[in-house]
Amino acid sequence: MSLTKTIFLTEIAKGLALTLKKLFSRPVTVQYPEERKPVAPGFRGRHALVRDPETGRDRCIGCMRCAKVCPSQCIYIETERDPETKRRVVTKYEIEALRCVYCGYCEEVCPVNAIVLTEFYEYVGYTREDLYFDRERLLKNWDEFIVTQKRPYFNPFWRPRGIPEKMLPAPKRKAEGV
Ligand code: SF4
Ligand code: SF4
Repeated sequence: MSLTKTIFLTEIAKGLALTLKKLFSRPVTVQYPEERKPVAPGFRGRHALVRDPETGRDRCIGCMRCAKVCPSQCIYIETERDPETKRRVVTKYEIEALRCVYCGYCEEVCPVNAIVLTEFYEYVGYTREDLYFDRERLLKNWDEFIVTQKRPYFNPFWRPRGIPEKMLPAPKRKAEGV
């Protein structure tokens, strides 16, 4: 340390100046819950089954892709054949959210955009059952999430009907040849 710095204690003065500057600058602390930071696109929050606006039901066709790809094995699906139409009918769709690692594989592999990890993150539970989502709960999660949206919902891994192509991010556009 130079003699000038030692005599005039410039380092201390610099430190105090920085403290004063931070004291009067804009606070960085977010005053939650009055203030909320915007969620980054693609954020993976609470699970939901998308409610189809036309049928009022979920879109799952019971292909089991999500259950097979899930690394936590926390998606439980049961299906049966309709005796008349011979079509596959989903009789059970459940997710044990406490075991989920929020990798997003389930929504990526779903061929019909039925399952999604919404941007909703304000959820807690006191018991395991509180975070064990059955089909009705997953549809309710969607309803609760979608009413909070002040813009068209957009997720890079999932594109609901009605979202114009130009709103897709560049990598997705490229992948889809748009
Ligand atoms: S986000 Fe990943 S771990 Fe969670 S349910 Fe989907 S596939 Fe499974
Ligand atoms: S991948 Fe989609 S359609 Fe297939 S079982 Fe999962 S949620 Fe249903």
